[in-house]
Amino acid sequence: MEKLIDPFGRTINYLRLSITEHCNLNCFYCRSEPEGCRAVTKDKILTAEECLNIAEAAVELGMTRIRLTGGEPLVHPDITDIIFRLSRIDGLKDLSLTTNGVFLETMAFKLAEAGLDRVNISLDSLDEETYRQITRGGKLLKTLKGIEKSLQAGLNPVKLNVVLLKGINADEIRRFIELTLDKALDVRFIEYMPFHGHKNWHQYFLPLDKVMEIAASIAPLVPVKGEHGGPARYYRLEGALGKIGVIYSLSRHICSVCNRLRVTPAGTIKPCLFSDDEIDLQLSLSDKEELKEKLREAIKFKSDPTKVYGDPLDRVKQFQVKRPMTQIGG
Ligand code: SAM
Repeated sequence: MEKLIDPFGRTINYLRLSITEHCNLNCFYCRSEPEGCRAVTKDKILTAEECLNIAEAAVELGMTRIRLTGGEPLVHPDITDIIFRLSRIDGLKDLSLTTNGVFLETMAFKLAEAGLDRVNISLDSLDEETYRQITRGGKLLKTLKGIEKSLQAGLNPVKLNVVLLKGINADEIRRFIELTLDKALDVRFIEYMPFHGHKNWHQYFLPLDKVMEIAASIAPLVPVKGEHGGPARYYRLEGALGKIGVIYSLSRHICSVCNRLRVTPAGTIKPCLFSDDEIDLQLSLSDKEELKEKLREAIKFKSDPTKVYGDPLDRVKQFQVKRPMTQIGG
């Protein structure tokens, strides 16, 4: 079986497939300003057939894990069909989804039956008003119900993604960590990244050291091995059911463990989150052999993990990726 190994020796076995730019929420740090939701055009969506072709090509090249993301993948009109078809690809070992969780209350069981293995749910606040402000209109209760339904549906593990935002949710770190004590949830803290040249990055950026400090003050922390490699580091509070994850997106060098390629809903491959390089797939979306060729080409554009950025502050300043996250897929 062929494998995708980049010029720096990293095995690339994980595809993030962003299937639509559309989203039902409008999180301020994810969208471009000032366009917000209105920036989404009708054509920035991959069809079920295109998703299947890309996924099959990736698996034939040795990729074993696919995450569906967006925009919001659950607003894609064919999401259940996409999951059903992808989950039946021979050789695909792990099919997951990143979602804001709003629709999971009604969809979690259907998605699990279709073949979804697990979910990551974005939840940046446990306070109704703060949640509403971050998402510009979202209702916290909907996502909380979606989390419960995902656990009941047997999606395993259920991970919560918390983007740490100075002055907005940093005072909730303890509450988030304590969720892991009696629930089988993995709560993952992610450093804010200033996409789309967000000028006010210093207003929100907070290194994750704060999280580790607070966690250690609650109970002894035991390092645990993550199931899938990649940049997340996991710990368990002694006796807790769930785990804490930390993703030092900017304050530490994590490129050496990068194992992924991203496909955007505009039909491009994005080899590196820290770079604007993209490879156009538009003319290849219906041809699996051409897609494989493009994927092989894309790994040549993976960045040199030893050369990309200097110290943490430099990395934040240099992080000037043109597309906002909603057009890339986190
Ligand atoms: N709509 C889905 C959701 O809300 O999870 C999937 C798409 S969203 C772009 C995927 C992930 O990217 C979310 O966990 C979100 O918090 C993260 N994200 C978006 N913008 C980010 C930023 N500027 N810095 C760090 N993480 C970001």
